Amino acid sequence: KELVFSGVQPTGNLHLGNYLGAIKRFVAMQAQFECLYCVVDLHAITVWQDPAELTRQIREVTAAFLAAGIDPARSVVFNQSQVPQHAELAWIFNCVARLGWLNRMTQFKEKAGKDRENASIGLYDYPVLMAADILAYRATHVPVGEDQKQHLELTRDIAQKFNNDFSAAIQQHGHGEAFFPITEPLIGGPAARVMSLRDGTKKMSKSDPSDYSRINLTDDSDAIAQKVRKAKTDAEPLPSETAGLEKRPEADNLVGIFAALSEASREDVLREYGGAQFSAFKGALVDLAVAKLGPIGAEMKRLVADPGHIDAVLADGAARAEAIAAPNIAAVKDIVGFVRRR
Ligand code: ATP
Ligand code: MG
Repeated sequence: KELVFSGVQPTGNLHLGNYLGAIKRFVAMQAQFECLYCVVDLHAITVWQDPAELTRQIREVTAAFLAAGIDPARSVVFNQSQVPQHAELAWIFNCVARLGWLNRMTQFKEKAGKDRENASIGLYDYPVLMAADILAYRATHVPVGEDQKQHLELTRDIAQKFNNDFSAAIQQHGHGEAFFPITEPLIGGPAARVMSLRDGTKKMSKSDPSDYSRINLTDDSDAIAQKVRKAKTDAEPLPSETAGLEKRPEADNLVGIFAALSEASREDVLREYGGAQFSAFKGALVDLAVAKLGPIGAEMKRLVADPGHIDAVLADGAARAEAIAAPNIAAVKDIVGFVRRR
């Protein structure tokens, strides 16, 4: 059975990269798949979060999901800490994953920085919890940005090793050849990796100290206009074909953003704007971004004003998520050889 799972951390300003690389695609998947969309608060605390701010941001990410068009009647919208099976399965996977696998994870190296001895153990273990998030539901597809590719590969390795290590028990308990699916990452589209507006070689990120590096989902039209106009570019006009664009990272980024926002390809965008100066292209991009993001930002603001409604959505989602995860984790415990409470 096909099932989609994905998550977003409640850690700071949601930005255009999160929207185009993840949330916008979550919305589209609902037509085709059964979907679970999770606000991953257990992941958030792998780096320090002010408690009151964390509470606010859990609700804000939930509001962004709803404002962007995720329908909580159709998809399961919830936060990770309300469903205990994530943490439970993560422990079992800690005993399946190998130290050598985690040592290769580049996101840990980037986020831990130079002072690695002082990083939390949770930050190191992040990819194992992510595997548990996905496999607690035996999800078959995970829409994510390009930056999560390595973590998805680790999820597949953990599923494979669990299936191999416990193959006899899996068969004995009547689950056939394999218990966990080998999950497919869904990475793609023109905005799989949206780059910083200040530096075309760095990913647009919540944690970049410069607010001019990103467009936030809650930015008003003036802020969007200013940030796009100040975005770094080179001096050449836009080319009429994509060939050579990869050597112009800032141009490539703006063309990719335009394509994703207008549901077109880079080729389509260049067919229209090839030969144009950046000043003209940026003007069109501002209009497009304001038209697409303005209503989402406004709806987010409306939704966060009613935390009671958001909390009710999350509670309903958690109950539905747990109804899927609980029997899976009970089966995992049987497979591992634990004795059930009777
Ligand atoms: P942090 O810096 O705290 O990790 P983040 O911006 O990477 O924040 P996450 O919550 O880790 O946000 O990621 C949520 C989703 O957004 C993931 O699917 C991730 O791949 C995607 N994503 C994050 N940044 C980008 C980007 N610049 N371009 C495209 N997708 C992105
Ligand atoms: Mg991230």
